[in-house]
Amino acid sequence: MRLALIAHDEKKPDLIEFAQNRQDDLEHLDLMATGTTGQRLIDATGLDIERKESGPLGGDMQIGAEIASETCHGVIFLRDPLTAQPHEPDITALLRICDVHDVPLATNLASADAVLDELLEQLGDEPSRNG
Ligand code: PGA
Repeated sequence: MRLALIAHDEKKPDLIEFAQNRQDDLEHLDLMATGTTGQRLIDATGLDIERKESGPLGGDMQIGAEIASETCHGVIFLRDPLTAQPHEPDITALLRICDVHDVPLATNLASADAVLDELLEQLGDEPSRNG
């Protein structure tokens, strides 16, 4: 099971806190992330994460390509709804390809646990919440 993690700058602290709280569960999955998000998560948790390009440089599109190839099974994408992003078309494309392939997608913290739990359930693992 492969999960993609992405957070816009204002949301990176939230994603790091989420990853720390759910680290035991995240270790059961094959993780990928956009460049800066991935580095911040690695620094904070030591999780093994495949880093794509930074979002504005094409990282969202690389994750979209994984979804199109059915090699990514869930996305947690903490978007900043209050700041315009230069790569808005890429973000829209990523959300769209998740819908095309019916891939579980969380765009805020409230639904992030649900996406992670769904992937763990598909793996046959019981979620273990730390936080
Ligand atoms: P980043 O990209 O992890 O490289 O900051 C995220 C994004 O802006 O989509």
